[in-house]
Amino acid sequence: MSDELVAAASNFIRHIIDSDIETNKHGGKVATRFPPEPNGYLHIGHAKSICLNFGIADDYQGTCNLRFDDTNPHKENIEYVESIKQDVRWLGYDWGDRLFYASDYFERLYEAAVELVQAGKAYVCDLTAEQIREHRGTLTEPGIPSPYRDRGVEENLDLLTRMRAGEFEDGSRVLRARIDMASPNMNMRDPTLYRIRHGVIHHQTGEAWCIYPMYDFTHPISDALEGITHSICTLEFADHRPLYDWVLDNVSVPCHPQQIEFSRLNLEYTVMSKRKLTQLVEEGRVAGWDDPRMPTIAGLRRRGYTPASIRDFCTRIGVSKSENTVEMGVLENSIREDLNEHAPRRMAVIHPLKVILTNYPQDQVEKLEVANHPQNESQGTRIIPFTAELYIDKEDFREVASKKFKRLVGGGEVRLRNAYVIRCDEIIRDEHGEIIELHCSYDPATLGANPEGRKVKGVIHWVSAVYGIEAEIRLYDRLFNTPAPDAAKEGKDYKEYLNPDSLRTLTHCIVEPSLKESQPGERFQFEREGYFCVDLQQADCGGLVFNRTVTLRDSWAKLEQQQND
Ligand code: ATP
Ligand code: MG
Repeated sequence: MSDELVAAASNFIRHIIDSDIETNKHGGKVATRFPPEPNGYLHIGHAKSICLNFGIADDYQGTCNLRFDDTNPHKENIEYVESIKQDVRWLGYDWGDRLFYASDYFERLYEAAVELVQAGKAYVCDLTAEQIREHRGTLTEPGIPSPYRDRGVEENLDLLTRMRAGEFEDGSRVLRARIDMASPNMNMRDPTLYRIRHGVIHHQTGEAWCIYPMYDFTHPISDALEGITHSICTLEFADHRPLYDWVLDNVSVPCHPQQIEFSRLNLEYTVMSKRKLTQLVEEGRVAGWDDPRMPTIAGLRRRGYTPASIRDFCTRIGVSKSENTVEMGVLENSIREDLNEHAPRRMAVIHPLKVILTNYPQDQVEKLEVANHPQNESQGTRIIPFTAELYIDKEDFREVASKKFKRLVGGGEVRLRNAYVIRCDEIIRDEHGEIIELHCSYDPATLGANPEGRKVKGVIHWVSAVYGIEAEIRLYDRLFNTPAPDAAKEGKDYKEYLNPDSLRTLTHCIVEPSLKESQPGERFQFEREGYFCVDLQQADCGGLVFNRTVTLRDSWAKLEQQQND
């Protein structure tokens, strides 16, 4: 890691941990956890939390647990559990034998509820959800105590037992903490601890339970039971911290973890809430959770991102308490740098235009040996066949163009990358006047380099028309056409900002023959075009499919723009 990155990796949470270690606060131990709710796939925001929690454990010789916060069985399922495990592993983290479920603690949590009831610190309330809301008061007005608040311990115990036994309907009763209906913190106004949910089959506990504990009750106790020292969560839980501490102070637990909040990651041109991502998937606005336009880990993986690039991104954005939105360019830079260094180079023609070299022996095949990577010799070389019939990209040809256009123009010369200089002698058209072919001549004296005194500046890529293979190439763009679709204007739904051009599929692209054996997930730089990977689901298409991960550097884009002018 560079000095700059080491500095970025340090943050206020690490400072807290450093001083806790110094004062021997948790016996010098560091134990964190990543606690996803299995109600959707993980996204890049979760990656920030994963890198933070697992990263701290790694750096302090501590531990990080993976714990499923599975207290809402009607929204959760095993597909999500499995995808989360896969994504955390793929990011490069290992929870060892510390995989837990909040549902592992359902019995312990119930005992803790009984303990609160016995101490007069919790009661069964028969108000409806709506009545509870109405009684809660506002930020400026205190709440109104429930008429059931002063139920006796015995009655509460009896009702709680019967809630568990399944005697009451959904919504007819809840268990509430008995704290303070006048607290300036709304979370402390007798929050709900348990609710009744019949008829759902929990992915871990099946039908064993018909009452389920709330997050604010489950989380602190789960943390304490696992011996977590630093319970790191996002800022919206800052107002819940007094409740977190209240629970731990009022039930018997082995330790009292410290909750620390940091600001969540927001990214431009996308949405991050699982509710919205679920909607995009369920309404078919994208091709699934792993659609390469999604900000999910599965989507980024299919798009061609590497685990290292995502970890690098998480280091770069840092950890703080201030809300901010990160530009998509920061994420794209992380993958670009990684692929620039590691991805082998290939040639691929996205919009093919036939070129016939009229003075090249028509049956000849020259096997050109070319480097796989311009800087990294250890990547070796490959053979590309050169033939009289080739494809170049339509974008690299203009009938007439200004001097700034450094590619092929009618009557002009250009170098074919790794091969010869050619001159465009004749433009062939179909009956509608569309250009279908270029007749060119090659200069045999120019293989690989210009002879002395010969100046040809432009270089374009090409593929043999005889040996090239057809492939589908998918060009992705931002999913939304506004930087903050979440903050959409009054009365507008974020989905109205979906970018209709976020995917362009080109089906008759021609790629060099060495790509024939490439495997799903393999990544390449297509010279002058960008970084691409073989689609992980290409088997469904019965042919080669490449996803564009990211375009070449932005400076390239600017350069190209100037050349187009
Ligand atoms: P959502 O609001 O999208 O449903 P969530 O916070 O409810 O997300 P969880 O599965 O509960 O999703 O999240 C697991 C962990 O990941 C939590 O500790 C949460 O704080 C953290 N996390 C979720 N989203 C982000 C984000 N955008 N940036 C950083 N951390 C996040
Ligand atoms: Mg949550």
